[in-house]
Amino acid sequence: MMINSCLEHSSKSSSIRHTVRVGILSLGCPKTLVDSETILGKLASRHYRFAPSVTDCDVALINTCAFIQEAKEESIERILELIELKKEGRIKILIVMGCLVQRYVNELRKELAEVDGFIGSGDYEHFDRLVRKALQGDKVVSVKTPGYIPGKGEKRIALTPRHYRYLKISEGCNHRCAFCTIPSFRGKHRSRPMKDIIEETRQLIWEGAKEIVLTGQDTTHYGRDTQGRFLLPELLRNLDQLEGIEWLRLLYTYPTCLKNDLMETLQQSNHICHYLDVPLQHISDPILKSMQRGVTKEKIIELITRSRKTIPDLAIRTTLIVGYPGETDKQFDELMDFMKVMRFERLGIFTYSQEEGTAAAKMKNQIPDRIKKERFERAMLLQQEISEKNNRLWVGKTLKTLIDERDEKDPHKWLGRSYMDAPEVDGTVWVHSPTALKIGHFYNIRIRRTEAYDLMGEIQL
Ligand code: SF4
Repeated sequence: MMINSCLEHSSKSSSIRHTVRVGILSLGCPKTLVDSETILGKLASRHYRFAPSVTDCDVALINTCAFIQEAKEESIERILELIELKKEGRIKILIVMGCLVQRYVNELRKELAEVDGFIGSGDYEHFDRLVRKALQGDKVVSVKTPGYIPGKGEKRIALTPRHYRYLKISEGCNHRCAFCTIPSFRGKHRSRPMKDIIEETRQLIWEGAKEIVLTGQDTTHYGRDTQGRFLLPELLRNLDQLEGIEWLRLLYTYPTCLKNDLMETLQQSNHICHYLDVPLQHISDPILKSMQRGVTKEKIIELITRSRKTIPDLAIRTTLIVGYPGETDKQFDELMDFMKVMRFERLGIFTYSQEEGTAAAKMKNQIPDRIKKERFERAMLLQQEISEKNNRLWVGKTLKTLIDERDEKDPHKWLGRSYMDAPEVDGTVWVHSPTALKIGHFYNIRIRRTEAYDLMGEIQL
């Protein structure tokens, strides 16, 4: 995901005597996007204003991702592009922020002398002050221990269309998966107060949100750190009752925390999408053990079976890692067999990325890149077949669809999503309509055709 937006700032009271336009390039996941929106909100309340483009503004912010190698490379590429624009004089101040800074601040400072400020994901509290320092010509470096969570009533500037908004219910993660670096730069799990989340949801509905997507590194852990109890079901029940809510979607659940009451809450609710995002990563017991996932093959199969029994139309999204250290051919085949049996509605496949500082990175039995790539391609092909077959079952049926945008090439085509599709990561429902549809509105769509990942249909009259 990459979102590019801008603010403009005018301040007579500060030492900055001219209008300051701020732009932001937000890379990475929805959690980072929420941070970007919060920062824009903080700056907007200090009278900064939108500029037309991040490639042409006074202060360019780039919010980075450092999850895996690919994400780090993309972040660096984008920073270098912005440095070029600074050299051309199209950008005055360049500030790099977020996860990459939190993780690699010393290396970045050494390599990227043209950057005016480095702000880690732990220091969003005083963002305005840091930007002002950079504007006054100081080199800004601020990387604190991760501890930030969005506060009560914090204003956000939408970087998504207004009809769907992400909402962060917690920050950080208490798990210690052997391959993952996130806890090292996002810190331990911190839940936001329930009343703040309810208040913010009300505000987002008032601003026009039809779909609220709940995020956090591990949403199922919600409440455990503050109240000693898993409070996600209670939170969901409260949100489900809010006036004006249409769709609630839950992302990033953790398999060991998916208790019966959570599935029952989904089943009994009026507005929570029957969509379960549960990253499983693997199925072979020795690999799960080495990954320190705290779950076994038997437990995962029991969880999926139970969830599907409780909610027959449940769409399950998961992610799997191929080429984890020590993964044998047999274990990879076991993973493929698991995919064939479970027929996940939505699936993301990653090749294992050897990240320094993690337990898995130190393991001796790393898998060669060639084999990782081969396994990735085989798993992707298999999932394509599965998804095609799953999709064909929808032909002739009607799906409630939220319209996201109009097709740029064909004025009679519209792009929407069903309950099975989270924004950015899942499929599309293509709608053919001779009359104009309203973006951000729901329509009942009769499915006529399918492709590997998308559905095509018309309005049900
Ligand atoms: S649960 Fe997710 S964020 Fe937490 S350590 Fe594991 S992979 Fe990383």
